[in-house]
Parts: sequence; structure tokens; C-alpha cells
Amino acid sequence: MSEEGQAGQGGGCLFCKIASGEIPGKKVYEDANVFAFLDINPRNPGHTLVIPKKHATTIMDMGEKDVGKLFESVRYVAEAVQKGTKAEGLSIVQSNGKAAGQVVTHVHVHIIPRYLSEGPVSLEGVLGVKKMPEETIDQIASTITQNLGAAQSPQKGKDEFDF
Ligand code: AMP
Ligand code: ZN
Repeated sequence: MSEEGQAGQGGGCLFCKIASGEIPGKKVYEDANVFAFLDINPRNPGHTLVIPKKHATTIMDMGEKDVGKLFESVRYVAEAVQKGTKAEGLSIVQSNGKAAGQVVTHVHVHIIPRYLSEGPVSLEGVLGVKKMPEETIDQIASTITQNLGAAQSPQKGKDEFDF
């Protein structure tokens, strides 16, 4: 998954250029770490992208704390998008890799205002539900669990949720 970005550490990367101001973007929020701007092809008015200012291709190329910081900002901007657009719902989408539909190879989180009148477009609608025998499901769960050993592990149990 850690294919280079459109130009390694962001040399020719479109979103690096937007974050640095080299290419204009309709900025809605910025702090030391993240930049949020309107999508140029909005799926609904207010469709916003939140990106880390530092180049990374997928979230697996970022450390867990950095992903945490990114999503703290996503939550913040999402509330403003929801209130600002009076959206009835929000789809928050983040694609990693071409197979998942990632076109721009700089991590970005879509915040898309949604409305009941659109009819709910669920994940099942996009991919279709895959029915599998119980045995296969158990096998998949166990393969994922086994691979947790090779994944960057979170500081589990140290900080409890506040809600
Ligand atoms: P993805 O398909 O998840 O990689 O999404 C990339 C998104 O970037 C698409 O929704 C595009 O419309 C959006 N995009 C591409 N170029 C620009 C740009 N110059 N400014 C704002 N959004 C852009
Ligand atoms: Zn970049």
C-alpha cells in the first residue's frame, strides 16, 4: 500500500500544492497539521476534503497518533459542514489504494452532506453483500486476528473513551 505519492514526498503532488497554497483551493479550515477545502467536483454542496499537510499516500503510511489527529479534525470540520449545510446525514469516506477508488494519492477524508430525499446509498448498494459459509467467515476473522501481530498496535486500554 505504501506506493509513492504522485511525486514521492509531495514534490508534484496536487494536494501537497493545495495545502501549501501553491495551487488555490477553497479553504474552509487549517491548523498546524491539517488542511480542509471544498472538493472541486462536489457530490453535494459542501463536500469537503480534509488532508494532512504532510504527504502520505494511505493511512497505513501514517502513525496511529497522526491518524488520530487527522480524525479529530475530521470530526471538527464535519460538525461545521453539517451545521453549515443543514445536512441530514454525512458520509465520511476515506479510500486507500486504486482498488478502493483512491484517485489522488495523498491521504484525504471526504465529508459529504447527505439528505433523506436522495434515498440512502449504503455500502451494500455499492458492493453487494457477499454470503459466505460460517467456516469461511471464521477463517477470515482468524486471518485478520493473526495479522494484528504484524500491524502497528494502538495504545490499547490506556486512554478510555470519554463518551
Ligand atoms: P478520491 O477518488 O477519493 O481519490 O478523491 C479525490 C477527490 O479529489 C475527488 O472527489 C476530486 O473531485 C477531488 N479533487 C481533484 N482535484 C481537486 C482540486 N484541484 N481541488 C479540489 N478537489 C479536487
Ligand atoms: Zn501530497
